[in-house]
Amino acid sequence: MFDILIKTLRTGRVTSKYPIRQDIAPEGFRGKPELLPDKCTFCGECARVCPPGVIWLTKEKGEEKLTLSFCGCIFCGMCEEVCPGGAIRLSQEYELASKTKDDLLTIIRRSV
Ligand code: SF4
Ligand code: SF4
Repeated sequence: MFDILIKTLRTGRVTSKYPIRQDIAPEGFRGKPELLPDKCTFCGECARVCPPGVIWLTKEKGEEKLTLSFCGCIFCGMCEEVCPGGAIRLSQEYELASKTKDDLLTIIRRSV
């Protein structure tokens, strides 16, 4: 018993201070996918390969719309891998809680 107590005291704190102090995600961490509108060509490759189907490319009334929902995203990185223009990338962001599903959407548009 005493040995265990000594060992525990020597080990010290092993948990982080999150959320009081924000932790930085390690290199290679696959967090929230981000769309970079300036680079997107609306080719639809990301929507085609997304396993859970949380990216949609739609066309209506002279407008193309690319919608990405983090709700259901499995952070696989396939969208980033296939994007020809580097317009989508997985960020270091891991705080994705929200009160509504709409808050989980990212939408970019272009006129056609
Ligand atoms: S990371 Fe995977 S699941 Fe998430 S949007 Fe990209 S392809 Fe879809
Ligand atoms: S994010 Fe990339 S793969 Fe997706 S539509 Fe835009 S250019 Fe194409």
